Formats: sequence, structure tokens, C-alpha cells
Amino acid sequence: MKRLRSIRWRIQLWYAAFLLAMVVVSGVAVFRLEQENLQRLERAALRDRMDDLFQLLDAPRNEQPGATEGEGEDQPPSPPPRPPAGGPPLGGLQKDDPRFAATQAHPYYFAIWRRDGGFLVSSPSAPKDVPRPEFPAGAPRTRQTDRTRDGYLEIFKATPPGEIILVGRSLGSVEASITRFGWMVVGLGTAIVAFGLAIGWWIADRALRPVRDIGQAAARISAGNLNERIRVTETDTELGALAAVLNDAFGRLEAAVQNQARFTSDAAHELRTPVSVVLAETQLILDDENTNPEARETATVCRRAAQRMHGLIESLLELAVVEGNPQSLEKDDWDLGELGANGVDIMRLLAQEKNIRLTASTTPAHCQCDAERIQQIILNLLSNSIKFSPKGADIEVSSGLENGQAFLRVKDTGPGISADHLPHLFDRFYRVDRSRSRGTGGTGLGLAICKGIAEAHGGTLTAESTAGQGSTFTLRLPVG
Ligand code: ADP
Repeated sequence: MKRLRSIRWRIQLWYAAFLLAMVVVSGVAVFRLEQENLQRLERAALRDRMDDLFQLLDAPRNEQPGATEGEGEDQPPSPPPRPPAGGPPLGGLQKDDPRFAATQAHPYYFAIWRRDGGFLVSSPSAPKDVPRPEFPAGAPRTRQTDRTRDGYLEIFKATPPGEIILVGRSLGSVEASITRFGWMVVGLGTAIVAFGLAIGWWIADRALRPVRDIGQAAARISAGNLNERIRVTETDTELGALAAVLNDAFGRLEAAVQNQARFTSDAAHELRTPVSVVLAETQLILDDENTNPEARETATVCRRAAQRMHGLIESLLELAVVEGNPQSLEKDDWDLGELGANGVDIMRLLAQEKNIRLTASTTPAHCQCDAERIQQIILNLLSNSIKFSPKGADIEVSSGLENGQAFLRVKDTGPGISADHLPHLFDRFYRVDRSRSRGTGGTGLGLAICKGIAEAHGGTLTAESTAGQGSTFTLRLPVG
């Protein structure tokens, strides 16, 4: 269903509907024209037969030369056929004239009625009991009229003296050729629609390819490759202009991110020296045996604050490096499962102190990554889980391949994170419970750094959690 809503499918469906309508309308029109044409030809053929009949009836009688003499007073002077009122003779017409032979599949036939309305004669090819034709009221009887009945087409007219002559033919052959033609139109129409749809699909594909390319490039850029740009091949087209505008926007975005990273890095560097001085000076005060207890206590508090600030500065510097310079990653082929198991080994002692069961059930998940940075994510996730989970909790690390990506998952049975906090978890300096986090020495930068590292790899770091039911953090990295 989602597919059908894509632009490509919508174009294709509109195009298919239009093409189908065109083909159906023209198919029906062609079919009707052909049908009329065949019937017109058939009428013309019947007219020819009627003319033949008139000629024959008018020809010298070779059977009973004197037969019409008794009818003389009724006969007009010139050509009209003259079958007598009482019965044969029929001029030159033979009942079994070959033109009306019954041997063909759909033979022509004739039937003649006397002036007094009584049936006179019909060809052997005629169907049984041809009903006497009725002339339309008001029209002269000598005018040729036609009728169709039970699959027969018949034309009839009266001779000036009044005999009714009818010539007809079964419409069977016409109907057969119309049906044949109909199937031909259906076949041709289907072929045109199929061919048209294939061409339409190809055209839509060609037309939308640049849009797809732009979308893919934009997705790569928003995934962290801020230095990438959309390739603009035809600058004077609408899509070329769109690509140029997007490139401009991406350029500005890259500059803004770099500025922010530079500012963070500069500020952190500037703060590093004074904090180091405070650390060194307070250490000196604490090392001096003559320092009185009050001064010692003040120095201890200052030193602790300076140490915290030192940690914060290091994290900010790291964030600046990760976000501002993804090229600094030293990527190689590594197995996320192996890195996860390694992280579990490192953190096992820490977990044991809190009686937490830390297990690894990993399967190979090879990908291109900077092992040191990925190890940093794993240790950060594990240390968070240990830090925030109560004694006796379970933490499980798993890995594998999913949808063409390598993944590593850290799942704990800790306090979980409520839905209000979940969307902000990866924001800088965000801590769910500030007082508790400060107690655990957190700065709220750990997950922001982890996410920055994952995105610099073209991957993602996500969290799923329900308050009170533990949390699951998943790192996904592209395989290639
Ligand atoms: P911090 O330095 O405070 O640990 P992080 O960015 O690593 O900062 O984590 C941000 C916040 O997310 C933490 O303060 C904590 O409240 C919450 N959090 C992180 N991991 C977990 C977890 N496994 N269980 C519960 N809460 C967590």
C-alpha cells in the first residue's frame, strides 16, 4: 500500500488508467465501425442479388413461353419482373439458380409472394417459413427496405404490379468475422496497453532517477557525511536547480556544525590550562604538611570541582573531534561481537562489585569501524547500565547482523527511562535525574559522544526503554 503511494506508482496508475481508457474507447470505435462496414457490405451484396433477381425475372421465359398471357392486363409495359399472380413461370429465374444455391455455409436466398399476398416460391437455400415482409406505413412498396430477424438480414421490395421479392442471407458469417475482429481488437488493445505500461514504467524510472539520487545523497549527508554534495549534472533543469539549492543549504549546515565544533574545542582548550593550574595548586596545598585543616578542606573541595571540570573539558574536546572531523576515524574490519565480548571482560569486575550478572551472547558482526571509538561506546553503555542498575541486576550484550547492518545491543534490567526523557537522552548535558547523576559523576555528555561516534561511522545509536523495566541500547553500523 505504501508503495502504491509513491510518485512513481501514482504516475504509473494515472498513465495506466488514461491508456486503458484511450485503448477501450478507440477499440470500441474501431469495432463498431468495422461492424457497420461489414453490414453495409452485406447490404450491398444483397442489393446486387436483388438486381440479379430482377434481371432474371425479366428475362425471356424458357419454360412456359405463353404463361403470362392470361395476366396481360395486369402487366406494366416495361422491365418489372412478372411472376404471375397464380404461380410460376418466373421469367429466366430458376428455383435452384446457382447464385442462390444451398451449398455454401451462409447462402443467399430469395422468396417471392404473389400480388394477392400468397406465397409463390423460394430458393431451396431459404430458411423455413420466411415471414412475408411488412412494408413501413406511408413508404412506397417499390422502395427497397431491409430487416433483420433471427440472425438473417433481408431486403425486400415490391414490383410495380405488386409481387413482393425478398433476398436474404444468414448473418452467421458476418457475426463470425465480427467476433474474430473483436478478439483481434482485444488482443491488439492488450498488447498496446502492456507495451505502453512497460514504456511508461521506463519513462517514469528515467524521470525520477535524479530525484532518487538527490534523496539518497541527502540521506547520506544527513547521516553525518556533511562534506558530501549532490552531483548536479544538468544545472538548467528544475531538478538541477533543486540540487543546487540543497547543496547550498548543506554547505551552510556543514559550516555551522564546524563553527560549533570549533567553538567548543577552542573554549575547552582555553579552559584546560586554568583548570590544570587549579589542580596543580590545590595538590601543592594538600601536599604541604603545614597546611591547616580548614585550608586543607577548602583545597580538597576546590580540587574535586576542578577534577570534575577537567573531565567535562575532556568530554567536550572529544565531542568536538567526533562531530567536526568524522574523517579522523581509523576504520578497519572489526567484529562488533568480539569488541562487545572484550568490553564485557573489562567491565566484569565493576559489575561484580554490585553483584550484577554481566553476560555476552554475541554472534559475529563484521563491519568497517574505528575499534577504539566503538570500544568507547561499548564501555560507556556498559558503565551506564552498571551505574544506574540496582544490585543483582542482569546486563546482556548481544550482537549480529540485521537488515544488512551489524548491531550490538546492551540490555539491562535497571530502572529504565520514562517516555518523557527518552527522546532527549542523547542531547548534550541531558541527565534524567540530575541529583542522582551528579552523585554518579555523570556530566550528561557520555551518550551524546557515543551517538556522535556512531553517526560519524554512518550508523545509529538508539534507546528503547520503559520506566521500571530496564533499558536496551542498540548500536547499528553499516557493514561495508
Ligand atoms: P551521564 O554522564 O550522566 O551518565 P549519559 O549521557 O551517559 O550521561 O547518560 C544520560 C542520562 O541517561 C543519564 O544521566 C541517565 O539518567 C540516563 N541513562 C543512561 N543509561 C541508562 C541506563 N542504562 N539505565 C537508566 N538510565 C540511563
